[in-house]
Amino acid sequence: PKVLLTGGSGFIAAHVLELLLKRGHEVITTVRSEDKASKIRAAHPNAKLTVAIVPDIAQPGAFDEVVKTPGLDYVQHTASPFHYNWSDAKTELLDPAIKGTTSILEAVKKYAPTVKRIIITSSFASILSTEALQNPNKVFSEADWNPDTYEDGLNGTKAISYRVSKKVAEKTAWDFVEREKPNFDLATICPPLVFGPVVHHLNSLSAINTSNERFVHLIQGKWKSEIPPTGVFLWVDVRDVALAHVNAMERPEAGGKRFFTTAGNFNNRDLVIAVRKNFPDLAAQLPNESVKGGEYPEEGVYGYDNSQATKVLGIDWIPIEKSATDTVQSLKDIGA
Ligand code: NDP
Repeated sequence: PKVLLTGGSGFIAAHVLELLLKRGHEVITTVRSEDKASKIRAAHPNAKLTVAIVPDIAQPGAFDEVVKTPGLDYVQHTASPFHYNWSDAKTELLDPAIKGTTSILEAVKKYAPTVKRIIITSSFASILSTEALQNPNKVFSEADWNPDTYEDGLNGTKAISYRVSKKVAEKTAWDFVEREKPNFDLATICPPLVFGPVVHHLNSLSAINTSNERFVHLIQGKWKSEIPPTGVFLWVDVRDVALAHVNAMERPEAGGKRFFTTAGNFNNRDLVIAVRKNFPDLAAQLPNESVKGGEYPEEGVYGYDNSQATKVLGIDWIPIEKSATDTVQSLKDIGA
C-alpha cells in the first residue's frame, strides 16, 4: 500500500514513518522545506520513500498536487503546530491546524479517489474540558468533546488556543465526512502528553518537541530545587502512538472511530524516580528525594478509559519507567 504522511519532520511522524516503512508500505511524506526533506532522505537511504515540499498547509489547495500521486491508499495527517512560540493565534496556530485539515480532506475527495481511509493525529486536547480536569471523579473517554469554541481559541490563554486548534480541526473532519460522504472513512488518534525517544532530526536540544521538553529540563538540572507541576496527568509513549496510527490504518474495524490512546496517569515525580533509578551518572543534575513538587492533587486525579484503543488497535501500553528511560537515553545520545 501507498501512504501519504503529512508533517514527516515531526516527533510523532518520524516514528509513524519508521513503522510504515518497516511494515513494507510505500510512503510519500510532506515537509515545509528542502532542508528538512534532505534530512529525512538521508535517514532512510534505501527506503520506498518520496519526500515532497508543502510550504504552507494553511493555503487553499496546499495538498492538491501531492495527493495526485497515483494509487494512494491511505493518508496519515499529523502536521499541526504544537508549540507556544507564536504571537497571532489565528494565522500561526488555528489556521494551519484547521485549514490544514480541511485542505487534506478536500484534496483527497477531489483528486485521490483511491484513498480508503484518512487517519488524523488529534489529541486529548479535543476530549478534555478545563472543568473536568479539576474533577477526580471524571473518567475521560472518546465520548467526551472539549466544549471550548473557536472564539475561545482566539481569545484564551495559549494552552486554550492550542486545545481549541486540535478540537476544531478534529470536529471539522468528522463533520466533513458526515456531510460530504466521500469514498474514504476516518479514524482519529487522541493522545495526551507523548513521551519517548527522539528519532527525527534535531538541530539542537533547544529544538526539542514540546512534550519532551520536560525531560531536557530535568536532566539539565532545572528541577533540582523544585519539581514543577505536572499539568496534564495522562501520558503515552510515542511508539504506541505510532502503532495506533498504523494499526488504525491497517485494521478495517478501526474506520469511523476516535481512539483515546493513553497508557494512563503519571506525575512528574514518577519521571524523576525513573530517571534517578536508571541514570546514576545524572545524579548531580537531578532533584534528591527530599525535593518537593510534581505530585497528584490531594483530592486525587481524573481517570481514563482506553479500552477501545487497547482492544481495536491491539496496544500493550509501554510503561512509564521504560518510556522515561528510553527518552533520556535518546537525549544523551544526541548530546545532552
Ligand atoms: P512536532 O512539533 O515535532 O511536530 C509537528 C509537525 O507539524 C512538524 O512536522 C511540523 O513541521 C508540522 N507543522 C507545525 N506547524 C506547521 C505549519 N504551520 N505548517 C506546516 N506544518 C506544520 O510535534 P509532535 O510530533 O508532538 O506533533 C505531531 C502531532 O501530534 C500534532 O498534530 C500535535 O497536535 C499532535 N499531538 C501531539 C502530542 C504530544 O504530546 N506530542 C499530544 C497530542 C497530539 P516543522 O518540522 O516544519 O515545524
